[in-house]
Amino acid sequence: METSPVVRASTADLYDAHVMRNYARAPLTLVRGAGTRVWDDAGRGFLDFTSGIAVSALGHCHPHWVAAVQRQAAELVHVSNLFRNPGQGELARRLVGHAGPGRVFFCNSGAEANEGLLKLARLHGRRKAGGVEGKCYKVICARNAFHGRTFGGMSATPQEKIQGGFRPLVPGFAFADLNDLEGFTRLVDDETAAIFVETIQGEGGIQPCTPEFLLGLRRLCSERNLLLLLDEVQCGIGRTGRFFAFEHAGVRPDAIGMAKGLGGGFPIGAIWISEPHADLFQPGNHGTTFGGTPLACAAALAVLDVLEREDLLAAVRARSAPWLAELRALAAAHPAKVLAVRGQGYLVGLQFAADPAPVLAALRERGLLAAAAGGNVIRLLPPLNVTPAELAESVAILRAVLGAAA
Ligand SMILES: *Cc1c(COP(=O)(O)O)cnc(C)c1O
Repeated sequence: METSPVVRASTADLYDAHVMRNYARAPLTLVRGAGTRVWDDAGRGFLDFTSGIAVSALGHCHPHWVAAVQRQAAELVHVSNLFRNPGQGELARRLVGHAGPGRVFFCNSGAEANEGLLKLARLHGRRKAGGVEGKCYKVICARNAFHGRTFGGMSATPQEKIQGGFRPLVPGFAFADLNDLEGFTRLVDDETAAIFVETIQGEGGIQPCTPEFLLGLRRLCSERNLLLLLDEVQCGIGRTGRFFAFEHAGVRPDAIGMAKGLGGGFPIGAIWISEPHADLFQPGNHGTTFGGTPLACAAALAVLDVLEREDLLAAVRARSAPWLAELRALAAAHPAKVLAVRGQGYLVGLQFAADPAPVLAALRERGLLAAAAGGNVIRLLPPLNVTPAELAESVAILRAVLGAAA
């Protein structure tokens, strides 16, 4: 029913009037999606290489995912963690199958997963200090990291644009340069409980940990009895062509934070904790009302089903290689504009010489949605089931935009 006899306000007007202004949004109202494409309220279609920031891993409205969510919505949606539900048990089993012996806790977002990891570091530190609290609690993180907007996540995110205005932050965080193993080693002291990094920095501009660095951190953590905590919120769940990005380096962390791609668009986060540390959490010392609902778990199980059935990890590895080669060739043809192409699989960043906002807008005009990241980077995050034709289309649009801009 119309609420006004005159003209109903446009979505843009409603946002202007009522939605908090904490985002600089693109002037686009999206109303529908199918596969890699989305459509705006004027009926214009776009190739969506944002995937809702690495979330819609199967593209939009994959039929298997839709059927699973619809079925579960009609059966049982939420019961809280006061009771068991079959989906949560099965999803935990399958994540343990990917991560290794250990246990899983479900939550609702990347920041909440990371809070769990930071609380785990505190519990480990207390155990290390013979049960005394407040003696061993420090966490060493990387400069340029992004771990979320909560107080713990923000405190682990040493960027003025994230932290400014919100101090005092949580104490006990120290920072070294990514891939500077000596720098991390120098910061370790008796008060250090954990090292916490993104396997591939996402918001910071697609900056990967080198395999040598990850292996070095693993050794350092084992020698000094520190937990190695990996934030795989953006790079995990198949985005790089392995279920977890750290698998490329052959390391095993002590705990993992996941979220974005896990639910294929439904909000769900998780932490996995390796067997020796999984019982640091005990009844009563951590929890969340919405974590691991039947509906969220059905969505995530549908993502894992499709990853397997459509052999998407292999598809990401095979199809991303020629695409990345084309992107690198394109960058090489425009050396004054594009300084570097970084990333793996479908987590790719093009580093520009200047603020790429005009390039993002030009790409959008030509029908390609991409996401900005720190350090003048444009991120390309297609769904894991993107087709070769769609990858080729993205290159053609990029070529046209780079060729057109002066
Ligand atoms: C997005 C992101 C987060 C925060 O996730 P939210 O779901 O937005 O809270 C944390 N870490 C990394 C690496 C991310 O990409």
